[in-house]
Amino acid sequence: MTERKVRVRFAPSPTGPLHIGGVRTALYNYLFARQHGGDLVFRIEDTDSNRFVPGAEEYILESFRWLGIKFDEGVSFGGDCGPYRQSERRDIYKKYVKVLLDSGKAYMAFDTPEELDAKRAEIDNFQYDASTRLSMRNSLSLPAEEVEALLAAGHQYVVRFKVEPGEKVLVNDIIRGEVVIDSSILDDKVLYKSADELPTYHLANIVDDHLMDISHVIRGEEWLPSAPLHVLLYRAFGWEETMPRFAHLSLLLKPEGNGKLSKRDGDRLGFPVFPLEWHDPKSGAVSSGFRESDYLPEAVINFLALLGWNPGDDVELMSMDELVQKFDLAKCSKAGARFDYKKMVWFNHEYILRKSDAEIAGIFMPVVKSHGVEATQEYLEKVVSLMKGRVNFVHELWDASSFYFVAPVEYDEKTVKKRWKEDSASKMGELAQLLDSLDDFSVESQDKAVHEWIESKGYGMGEIMNAFRLTLVGEGKGPQMFDISALLGKEETLARMQRAITVLG
Ligand code: GLU
Repeated sequence: MTERKVRVRFAPSPTGPLHIGGVRTALYNYLFARQHGGDLVFRIEDTDSNRFVPGAEEYILESFRWLGIKFDEGVSFGGDCGPYRQSERRDIYKKYVKVLLDSGKAYMAFDTPEELDAKRAEIDNFQYDASTRLSMRNSLSLPAEEVEALLAAGHQYVVRFKVEPGEKVLVNDIIRGEVVIDSSILDDKVLYKSADELPTYHLANIVDDHLMDISHVIRGEEWLPSAPLHVLLYRAFGWEETMPRFAHLSLLLKPEGNGKLSKRDGDRLGFPVFPLEWHDPKSGAVSSGFRESDYLPEAVINFLALLGWNPGDDVELMSMDELVQKFDLAKCSKAGARFDYKKMVWFNHEYILRKSDAEIAGIFMPVVKSHGVEATQEYLEKVVSLMKGRVNFVHELWDASSFYFVAPVEYDEKTVKKRWKEDSASKMGELAQLLDSLDDFSVESQDKAVHEWIESKGYGMGEIMNAFRLTLVGEGKGPQMFDISALLGKEETLARMQRAITVLG
């Protein structure tokens, strides 16, 4: 038997910004598809028109472009199984609703919301199922003529799945193993609503997974309760042979580990839970995103990949290609994964180190410009190379290294008190003269000349270097002194020293 081609899908509902848990689901689908030479389909599940949010679909697509998660077919990508937006597949679903009705596996229910409420008030834990359906108003309980009459008069109805009680339903989940439940606990789920001529999530999801030849359904734990119903639907259609394998991913937990991660945790602790900044079209509220918070997409990917899976060795830093090689769906954890946002910051730092100075300089350039400074790419690369080890985010490079771009106008009071002595001005005058005499202004040449000078004069290394730093940086921070002066160049170095001597006296 030839093995079935791997085809997976990411099928969001466009109800708002994509939560970070959804991004992880998409990533695991992507890794699994790439690893098996399979396809990843992007499907939009927009059959619940009440929850539709304009802009959400484009937001989701933009998020994946930024993160480098690529789809093979689907909305905006094309393919042979389209349309890939469920709201454009009405006729297809109608056909399959009819199949279930004709075979007696589903029925029409005419109960109004008021009637349903009344039932719920009358019966504790009311459930529409084999034990109650005959006391309700549907095509099983009403005479055929009455059903005809209701339809003819244009009464709205829903189509419900007729769950046979007492059947064993096996959900064979790659991550969770075999789960068997008794169909008696399930209710007769609504599959279709005549009012908007649209199916519900369950029917559309099953029909599309079948028609799109999906081999594996990898999705969040919140969909696990739907799985038995989905298995029964495959059975009802006679599609068991090609039923996809399920893999329900674990929950993302709060950083403290207690309970589900929510946007509020991000607000409380200061990290985003969305890939991109989101502007709510209704309220105008803005939610922060990883991109705008200056995370590198590679860092986000690496961090997310390890939330609920690990390669079993101690390796933590992995490129997308390495992840594709190592990822193992069967080794994903059942237990929730704690959203350790501090670890995410660490990943960002590591990826800043791993990226070339040229690339980081390219990201840093607009930050520098936003401070009204013009600098060449070459100069930025040098600054980046000296400073990138000190920051977790590219934007932090500005605070760490602004002295490379703007001369100090003020001198930090505390540092002056501690480092600028009576004779500092005269010593800095001497040092300036020495530096001015150097033809070679490289780090090595300055280092050698200054050391010799300090020794010959019997000055203290610390007092000279600290005062020197104050003249160039304006405070007590920064890397090796000659790294700074060499990069600033002789002219700028001497100008800054002169100014400090005048101002500090
Ligand atoms: N539309 C569902 C969602 O928003 C898809 C669930 C599934 O993958 O089956 O997550």
